[in-house]
Amino acid sequence: MTVRAKGLDHVAIVVRDLEESIPLWRDALGLELTHVEEVPEQAVKTAIFGHGMGRVELICPTTQDSGVAKFLTSRGEGLHHVCIEVEDIESAMDSLRKAGAPLIDKEPRPGAGGARVAFVHPKGMRGVLTELRQGPPDPATPVSGGGRRRP
Ligand code: ZN
Repeated sequence: MTVRAKGLDHVAIVVRDLEESIPLWRDALGLELTHVEEVPEQAVKTAIFGHGMGRVELICPTTQDSGVAKFLTSRGEGLHHVCIEVEDIESAMDSLRKAGAPLIDKEPRPGAGGARVAFVHPKGMRGVLTELRQGPPDPATPVSGGGRRRP
């Protein structure tokens, strides 16, 4: 069986204060802020910039004891993870497991935007926490034939 990935879905940057950080990417850099969402399953609030593949996602912990909160305490603000969009998350997880990359999630779990996600430990991915994501299609992705569907 061949595993297929579509490419970089997003990079996630952990920030201390979401509202305070948004203007830097939106106003100073000029990225379009497309979505702000709280993801209770991961105890984070996220701000997503751009459409489709290659989005930038700011994440901010909403509790003191989550993984993201601990990351922020120990390492400060910065790159948190990269996310690769895959066609079949179970087979991607299987394939990485066989390649010796330890998975943090044994099963896919709910992520932002109704996707299913699973994290691969940085020690198996050359030091970068890596999220696997199997979408529904991004609701903000331009629809072929003109026009753009907004959430
Ligand atoms: Zn992510």
